[in-house]
Amino acid sequence: MKPLSRQLDWANFIFLLFSPLIGVVGTIYYSFHYGIHPVNVTLLVAFFWLTGLSITGGYHRYFAHKTYVSHSLLKLFYLVFGACALQNTALRWASDHRNHHRYTDTEKDPYNFQEGFWYAHVGWICYKRPSDPSQFTNVPDLLNDRLVMWQHRYYLLIAILIGFGIPTLVGLAFGHPLGGFLWGGILRVVLVHHFTFLVNSASHRFGKQPYANDDSSRDCWWLAFLTNGEGYHNFHHKFPSDYRNGIRWFHWDPTKWWLCSLRMVGLTSRLNKVSTQALLQARRAMERVHSTWQMTQSLSHVGAAIPAKLVPAEAGSNSI
Ligand SMILES: [Zn+2]
Ligand SMILES: [Zn+2]
Repeated sequence: MKPLSRQLDWANFIFLLFSPLIGVVGTIYYSFHYGIHPVNVTLLVAFFWLTGLSITGGYHRYFAHKTYVSHSLLKLFYLVFGACALQNTALRWASDHRNHHRYTDTEKDPYNFQEGFWYAHVGWICYKRPSDPSQFTNVPDLLNDRLVMWQHRYYLLIAILIGFGIPTLVGLAFGHPLGGFLWGGILRVVLVHHFTFLVNSASHRFGKQPYANDDSSRDCWWLAFLTNGEGYHNFHHKFPSDYRNGIRWFHWDPTKWWLCSLRMVGLTSRLNKVSTQALLQARRAMERVHSTWQMTQSLSHVGAAIPAKLVPAEAGSNSI
């Protein structure tokens, strides 16, 4: 458990509590009275994809993991629309995420799943961070990036002007400023928030572990539909430098298709892929763990003594 001395971050707590209320209940109430205008729905869909891809393709697969090379224009796009997702600055997000990979399931993991599903989903954001003199030492590349530091400085201003200002102005142009604000602003933020948060919570709880079982990450195909392809989280934890999360052609991973499409117009390059040999090695190692576990289960059912060397240390803790 987290120490009791840990203090609530009231600003984050209140926003995370009231934004779903205003975004969902407020939008339903508004639409009940004023109808569902196509412009508002378009604003929701457009800003959902712009900000969602800026988190998965930008904050995650570019700034946190550097899985490919990005053109400066694309970086600027990610930084502007990533800010509008209201998930903190790219510098802070990438620093937290690198710690998540380095210290998965331990106290140093910012969204440690061992603290519970809800803590990993949203609880961790509701606490104030202890002052940490070593903060940002794991993102020296980003500290030297002028665009990243520009966004770090003007993050809230960008989020408010672009993320809420533009939907409100477009709504105003069509006579529905409040509708634009609710649909393209608040409701969209709430959806992108909680779909992203599912990667930290549900992707460490539901699904299989075909590549590794030394942490709680899992591959969950249905989560991929909510998270722009980030549901294949066990693969991602094993091979974080790969630009893909869903590696098969039929795996739903719009982020990888987005990055491949941008390569055709020169905005991305050197998209990194894990070698087939490393992939097969990981899968075979896990198949051995699975078959060992099945053998120990069969032996225990017939009451035979199980040789200690046949029991995989992690087998009991994983539903595979
Ligand atoms: Zn994870
Ligand atoms: Zn990652």
